[in-house]
Amino acid sequence: MDYSKFNVRFIPEAGPMATPCHRRVTPSGKPSVLDRDGYSHVLARVNGRQTGRTAHGARYVQKYGPVPDGLVLDHLCKNRWCCNPEHLEAVRQADNVRRSRSAKLTADQVADIRLLVASGERQHSVAKKFGVHQSHVNRIVRGEFWNNGPCPAWENVKSRRAAARAVR
Ligand SMILES: [Zn+2]
Repeated sequence: MDYSKFNVRFIPEAGPMATPCHRRVTPSGKPSVLDRDGYSHVLARVNGRQTGRTAHGARYVQKYGPVPDGLVLDHLCKNRWCCNPEHLEAVRQADNVRRSRSAKLTADQVADIRLLVASGERQHSVAKKFGVHQSHVNRIVRGEFWNNGPCPAWENVKSRRAAARAVR
């Protein structure tokens, strides 16, 4: 399968990660339609046949190569429409299910997780307490998630940056 034929256009959008999520757009710049499950799809002509792939899957393969057998792609940012390959990780299906629970953590729980780890408790035991994966605790501690509460919309980020430039 030649993945270079899948040309995924996107715009950056602020999300829960340190780097922006990528929202796929059509050639005319409109956000792409999502399927029932919230995924974006791309079409390409491969070996003379019209072929479809998920936008995030196409960009993952373009950057990292094929998803290893038996693994599925997990969105670290929890935005299924996001096609930023840096927000994707190939994991076992069981891990994917376990991780989706961690999306339900409240801001208070995240603060507790940080406190417990800072006070010397091992990450895997904190993870067990909160019913999440150790790698998720690690990301919370490193500040990749929940940096300062919910992220502002991309429009606000842009206007704040423009205001900051105008002051300088
Ligand atoms: Zn993302």
